[in-house]
Amino acid sequence: MQICTGCNTSNLNTAVRCEKCGGELIPVVPQETLPMSRPATHQEMVEVMGQIQAQHIGLATVFSFLIPGLGQIFKGELGKGVIIMIAMVVGLILVGAFTADLPGGRWIVAIAYFIAWIFNIVDARS
Ligand SMILES: [Zn+2]
Repeated sequence: MQICTGCNTSNLNTAVRCEKCGGELIPVVPQETLPMSRPATHQEMVEVMGQIQAQHIGLATVFSFLIPGLGQIFKGELGKGVIIMIAMVVGLILVGAFTADLPGGRWIVAIAYFIAWIFNIVDARS
């Protein structure tokens, strides 16, 4: 189909000039050939999904970095995230209580906490 630039009348593809006013004709691009309206190819879907996934992993990492367990909750693993949150606090208190009198007790707590914190971030990224 072609559209007249003068009066917007639809004309046949075979028409050279507008049948109504004799104006210039421009071809109408069918909807399905427009880049935005055609269905995405598999490759494009994979790319978009990959980008979204990368953003999600990045956010999950930041959340778990700030608050252990938050990245897991962000990923939809609510139970796991809550358990990690509680375990990090309770674990820290328990380890602290049992190691406070030991020589280097504070280091044990610090190292144990650091290892658990790293595991939490690695888990949030998985
Ligand atoms: Zn016309």
